[in-house]
This record gives sequence, structure tokens and C-alpha cells, in this order.
Amino acid sequence: MDILHVSAECYPVAKAGGLGDVVGSLPRFQREKGHNAAVVMPMYRTPYLDSHQWELVHKSSTNLGQWTFDYSVIKEQSDTQGFPLYLLDINGLLDREKVYGYDDDTERFCAFQIAVVHWLNSWQQLPEIVHVHDHHAGLIPFMMQHCYAFKRLQEVRTILTIHNAQYQGAFGWDKTIYIPHWDSWKRGMLEWEGQINPLASAIKCCWKVTTVSNTYMNELRTMSNGLEPLFDYEKGKCTGILNGIDYAVWDPQEDKYIQDHFNSVNVQNGKAKNKKLLCDKFRLSIDKPLFIFIGRLVGEKGADLLPQVIKDSFRYIGRKMNFLVLGSGELETETRLKRLTSIAEEDYASYIGYNETLSHLMYAGADFLLMPSRVEPCGLNQLYAMRYGTIPLVRRTGGLIDTVIDMGDPDGYGISFNHTAVGDITHAIYRAVRLHAENETFSSLRQKIMALDFSWNMSADQYLSLYKSFD
Ligand code: ADP
Repeated sequence: MDILHVSAECYPVAKAGGLGDVVGSLPRFQREKGHNAAVVMPMYRTPYLDSHQWELVHKSSTNLGQWTFDYSVIKEQSDTQGFPLYLLDINGLLDREKVYGYDDDTERFCAFQIAVVHWLNSWQQLPEIVHVHDHHAGLIPFMMQHCYAFKRLQEVRTILTIHNAQYQGAFGWDKTIYIPHWDSWKRGMLEWEGQINPLASAIKCCWKVTTVSNTYMNELRTMSNGLEPLFDYEKGKCTGILNGIDYAVWDPQEDKYIQDHFNSVNVQNGKAKNKKLLCDKFRLSIDKPLFIFIGRLVGEKGADLLPQVIKDSFRYIGRKMNFLVLGSGELETETRLKRLTSIAEEDYASYIGYNETLSHLMYAGADFLLMPSRVEPCGLNQLYAMRYGTIPLVRRTGGLIDTVIDMGDPDGYGISFNHTAVGDITHAIYRAVRLHAENETFSSLRQKIMALDFSWNMSADQYLSLYKSFD
């Protein structure tokens, strides 16, 4: 099968979160299973661009409303990632350092999508599946079906994977001219609550919709930032497929970002060495259990509660643990986390920013990972943590429900709590501190989580069966 993934992120070219990890690995597993999967994404100005060799495969021009722009598509010459990787360049719009966060993101991603469809329309042999990811590629199914210039693409099957339904990319009807001449009877396929909503449009137009865990799929029908009735209406074509993790990147025995490798047999020793490095680096005391948080500092992740949780843990449990936070996001949370350093007694540190290398060392060196998410479509951090013998403390929501079983339940191995509330999180930390003190139980849990299988194997098969269900 020929499959083209369209995404705003793809690790290691550009990654802002889990979307990048998934698109950077799923196509490789699809190829290993004998399918011809490729990725097209915007050409940002990231270091990856200069450190790899590229060939020009297509050059043309098209329009965003009144504006005619040139675009080109380059392909990575030696398929280093294990699949053909195409970057689409639009001079002045896409070639920037960051993936998101610019005032003209609507124009950037509209132009990207138009150019992708324009390029696709020039292919001699069309792919069987166009697999779009999140709202940045959400207008593509509409354009393939309802824009007059792309009639040839009408029968190509489209599938949408939602990595996060909080972000929908909606914009006003004043920008309707951006979309190439389209059948105005189909206005309803673009609209949601009075706006052009790329995510809603993709849900309506795609042949199938998936999201990254079963529980999140169910939750979307009652909690999806305004799209609840749409998910309810379209439930027949929606499926949850859990993300896998890429063991070529996330393997404590081979990880290129850490020095002291380990496996489930020498986990004790291996983690201790990584913990020492981490504690020395951040001036944390080595003897106490180390709790980490890695992620976007936003309400969705419950990051706003971290400063109070840390203070309350010190106050009510005692100074029996270390905290290390890595992340960036909302300014207020960043500031409060930085200020907390003033009360630290070699038991708290933070790194405000994005740091891939540090994240690997943290998974390897920590004892516990905190994930008090309010919303978590799948969550990859808890999967990486478990792979590195770090016990996750998670709120019971979305993919966290599907991947972490509380140690008090049959066959359990993690710590779960019900609410993203300071009291619940602090209580979970209390349970973890007690667990850490019970050496034997703690070590056996570590070994147990390292042996769990969250590889892509099963999930990649589920995607393939879904593609085949179109026949
Ligand atoms: P989301 O996509 O919602 O941000 P996920 O749990 O699906 O959350 O994926 C988060 C990914 O981003 C993980 O690979 C995590 O290690 C990484 N990550 C998040 N924030 C940072 C950061 N500040 N530095 C390094 N890696 C980060």
C-alpha cells in the first residue's frame, strides 16, 4: 500500500511534542510490514536541514487567495529515518526556526496544505492513503474532495489521526478565499460554530478518524473543546489506536543521549549512575527519591499545580524527596517554578526550555514521573518512563488510563489518582515515597514496568487493518 503522511512535526526533523514522535516512527514500522509509507512536512529552519543531503523533487507555484507563491519539495537523499521524507518549502512562510507560535500560523499552514495537495495532484500514480495528522493538515481532505482543481484526488482514501483535539486551528470566514476554488454547496463541511474549523472539517471529510487511545476517543464525545456533538455524530467512523514507542530511540540499553546504559537486569546500578549525573548537574541530594515532570507547562498537563504540589509535599510529607521539572509554556507557571528555587534545599530544580538530551537523562535517572494531566490523549512520557524503569504517577484520564494500572489493583505497576488537584497529587507522592522505602517491592516494580511491551508492533497492524477496511 502507498501511504503518504502529512504532518507539521516529525522527529528528529522538528518536534514540539508527541505528534513528532509518532510521525517520526509509525511510517518506519509500516514499511517494515511491507508498505510504502512516506512523510511530507514543512521545511523549517532546523539543524536537521543542514546536516542532511537533499534532492529537489518538485518545484511549482500556486495560490493562497490573491497571493501566488512558489514552493518546492525536497527529499532526504538516503532515507536516513527509514522512510522517504519530503520537506515542502515556501520561502518566507515556513522556513522559520519554530514550528508554531507565529501570528501568521493560519496562513503558514493553509499555504502548506494547499501546496501539498497541489503537489499530490501532479503525481502520476496517486497514493492509496493520505493520512493527515491534527488540524495543521485538516483542510487537506476537504480540498481533495471539494476543490475543482483537485477532482482527480476525490477517490483517494483519507484518514485523520487526532493527537490533540484541544487545538483545532479555527479561523474566520473572511479568510475563505485562502481555500482554492471550492464547491460552495459544501460550506458545511468546513464550518463549525460559525468558523472554518480545520479539525472539524477533517472529521467530517475523512473516510476514517482515529485518535491515540481508546479512552480518549470515548472522552471526546463529552469533552473536546466544543466538538462533542460532532464526535458523537461521527462515532461510527472513529477508532482509538494506542501510540507505540520507538525502541530504536527510546531504549536504555542503546540510547545515544545517555552515557550509562542499562537493562532490566542491571537496572538498579544503571539508574543509580544516571541519577548521580542528574543530581550532580542540578545540585540535588542523591539519597532521596527523585520525582520528575517533563512536558509543556500548560493547564492540560496540570503543570500550573506543580509549584503548590511541591510546597505541600515538603510541608506535609517532609523534605524526603527531590523534584526536577523540565518544560516550557505558560509564562506564569514558568515564573512560579523559577521562583521556587528560593525555597530549595538541594531538593528542587527546574530547567525552563526544551531539551531533548536532558529529557532522556531524566527518564533514565529518575525514580518517579509525575503526570497530573487534565487531558491526555495518549501520553508518551509515561511509556518512556516505564521503559527506563521510572514509575509513573498519573491522573486517571485518556491514554493514562489505558497504559498505567495502579499498583493496588490486580497486575498493577504504577500509581494513579482521580483528580488533577493538589491534594490528590500530593497523596500520590506520599504513596510513592513509601514505596521507595520498601526496597524489594520498589525494585520488582521497576523490573516489571521495563518488561511491558508498548512497541509499535500491534498499533502499526491496527492502522494497516483500518486502511484495508476501505476496500
Ligand atoms: P504532548 O504531545 O501533549 O506534548 P506527549 O506525552 O504525547 O505530550 O509527548 C511529549 C513528548 O515531548 C515526549 O517525547 C517528551 O519527552 C517531549 N517533551 C515535552 N516537553 C519537553 C521539553 N521541555 N524538553 C524535552 N522534551 C520534551
